[in-house]
Amino acid sequence: MAEPFDAVEVIRTKRDGGELSDEQVDWVVDAYTRGAVAEEQMAALAMAILLRGMSRREVARWTGAMVSTGSRMDWSDVERPTTDKHSTGGVGDKITLPLAPTVAACGAAVPQLSGRGLGHTGGTLDKLESISGWRASLSSEEMLSQLQSVGAVVCAAGADLAPADRKLYALRDVTGTVEAVPLIASSIMSKKIAEGTGALVLDVKVGSGAFMKDVESARELARTMVDLGTDADVRTVALLTNMQTPLGLTAGNALEVRESVEVLAGGGPQDVVELTVALAREMLTAAGLDGGKDPADALGDGSAMDVWRAMIAAQGGDQDAPLPVAAEKHTVLAPADGVLTSLDAYGVGVAAWRLGAGRARKEDRVQAGAGVEMHAKPGALVRAGEPLLTLHTDQPDRFERALVALEGAYQIAPRGSRPDLLPLVIERVD
Ligand code: URA
Repeated sequence: MAEPFDAVEVIRTKRDGGELSDEQVDWVVDAYTRGAVAEEQMAALAMAILLRGMSRREVARWTGAMVSTGSRMDWSDVERPTTDKHSTGGVGDKITLPLAPTVAACGAAVPQLSGRGLGHTGGTLDKLESISGWRASLSSEEMLSQLQSVGAVVCAAGADLAPADRKLYALRDVTGTVEAVPLIASSIMSKKIAEGTGALVLDVKVGSGAFMKDVESARELARTMVDLGTDADVRTVALLTNMQTPLGLTAGNALEVRESVEVLAGGGPQDVVELTVALAREMLTAAGLDGGKDPADALGDGSAMDVWRAMIAAQGGDQDAPLPVAAEKHTVLAPADGVLTSLDAYGVGVAAWRLGAGRARKEDRVQAGAGVEMHAKPGALVRAGEPLLTLHTDQPDRFERALVALEGAYQIAPRGSRPDLLPLVIERVD
């Protein structure tokens, strides 16, 4: 059957700054997924979108077209309201681990489809896979049953969830077109809309460790995604949060699981607790459950930990098996007395990645025990010769390149100096 449009015509329209019609958008997304629009044609269109942008109508239509290339999950049989969170990715961002069980302990159901890390940012599935026996792949029936019995499920997205995005993301990755706001927003939101959650909180990271390096571009991304969610009947809000420095005191898979369990036990680093509670409150409000149990209480009274244990056990995880520990360690000592004024998220993320916590290509395996442990955060007093960072890996030949990534990544200033940091939660967009 002849195609109703010509890909070159669609590319030219966007190249020259025009708007694509609804029919053109529906066709090009579907035809690309079927293979009727060639990779090089979609690459040219993606670049034209990056340079020319898209109207609100175009992004909404594009997102809907991506959702339609697969199936939309349906949780209408779950009694509790569904609510989820998506982070645009950062360093040490283990928040999903304490957050999903906390929100479930407060009465909502969390159906989270997560991803793996690529580049310097970690992936939730890689972290959870450091728990012996834990299984990322679940059928829709298993997801439904776990949502009903436990209230929270974190698992891998199936092949039928917005398949257009899978193909387009891989193409953007190799054509310098990842950074286009309409393409990032439609990529994230098509998967979240297809996931079928009723409410969604977006954690849009800002800073060196994030996609969005400044507040203005993060705000534009947040605004676009909130509008897309709202247009698709998903109650959506966004928080812009600080990713100038890593979250918590660990970056690396098993290291982050250990820290998350500390948070679930009522302890853990203050920034991880604060962000978990802030996002949990937003998720509950978006689900219409404000005024019920407070997330801080769920962390304090052990109920979030109970849900965590049930959630891990339901996916085959062995709670009692010790978490993997890397074979080798290297300690970086503070070079001077003073105040730690910066600890750069990007530098720490690249170091953790080079130690083996992340992958360079999709098919690489990650090391469960690898990563960076931080002994101080910006604002802390440090003393010359005391440990500042501990690097973990199974392969000691990785230390050298990790140390290169950390050159210039931390600064120590005389006592009395103050770090120039954005607040943890910078702004709310609804
Ligand atoms: N995460 C996604 O899923 N897609 C993007 O384009 C960027 C981040």
